[in-house]
Amino acid sequence: MHILVCGGAGYIGSHMARWLALRDIRVTVLDDLSTGHRSFVQWGDLIEADIRDPVALDRVFAAQRFDAVMHFCARSLVGESVADPYSYYASNVGGTLNLLQAMRTHDVARLVFSSTAAVFGHPQADRIDEDHPQKPINPYGASKLMVERILADAASAYGLRSVALRYFNAAGAAPDGTIGEAHDPETHLVPNAIKAALGTGPALTLFGDDYPTPDGTCIRDYVHVDDLAQAHLLALDYLDANPGAHAFNLGNGQGFSVREVIAAVAQVAGRAVPHSVAPRRPGDPAVLVASSDRARARLGWRPEYTKLAPILETALRWHFSQDDKQ
Ligand code: UDP
Repeated sequence: MHILVCGGAGYIGSHMARWLALRDIRVTVLDDLSTGHRSFVQWGDLIEADIRDPVALDRVFAAQRFDAVMHFCARSLVGESVADPYSYYASNVGGTLNLLQAMRTHDVARLVFSSTAAVFGHPQADRIDEDHPQKPINPYGASKLMVERILADAASAYGLRSVALRYFNAAGAAPDGTIGEAHDPETHLVPNAIKAALGTGPALTLFGDDYPTPDGTCIRDYVHVDDLAQAHLLALDYLDANPGAHAFNLGNGQGFSVREVIAAVAQVAGRAVPHSVAPRRPGDPAVLVASSDRARARLGWRPEYTKLAPILETALRWHFSQDDKQ
């Protein structure tokens, strides 16, 4: 089997490429390196191409045969999407449409797509399952929901088989420390808390401690990046017997508050996390926790990391390995 991993130089995509290669599946990475890292492409060849360029995509698919595509390329910062929606729709919707058209032209009929909890908007339940209303509150979530709709239409019209996987809060790193989470700028809680603890980044800013939660800080569902990779491979297998367009929510089903994450980082790092409290960050719902019962039942997904500390330990190991390189 040969899989094209679009966005395979990014955080989740690179872990996917590693996961596949460790299972002897041939991988080719397509990435424009706009936010991804060349150094993260350690498994399979890298094709540098931009999904907004249909001619380049056609060339890629004409040159070699892929059995399936896993599509991680996306702009993914909520605030940026509010400030610059055109570029989000151009990449996340327009770029994906180019990819789907190239797949159709070259007869590649299976896709696993990175979607997000942001397709749901404000949560109306303690745990969000697949039947939760989809009312995105920002262009990022809207762009992903538009693609989910396109995939449903493509299933009816062209027989495209697809699974959209809606991640909650991806966290952690490859347990061997080879790759991890590195964004520029870094906006995510776990890497920012670790960098604050290690002194490789500024003190953490905690956005809001006046939410209607037990300790006043936001609650999120942290899921290990390798558990996400596991789900993608299961999703591909699922498509063998299940035509159509499918969607599953991926999280641990357990919420941790920002203060709990800070305490857990301090515990695993053995160092305090310097931090100060600031006003709420716009667009942050108080609680976002997944119900992944459907992924467990239908895909046979069994997340390996169910507790916060082991997830943070893998992230910390990677951050330490970065210190060694400096
Ligand atoms: N957060 C924070 N300080 C940071 C980054 C994040 O307090 O430097 C909070 C953020 O407000 C949210 C939670 O941590 O409540 C998780 O945010 P993150 O950006 O990691 O993921 P999101 O839930 O936005 O996808």
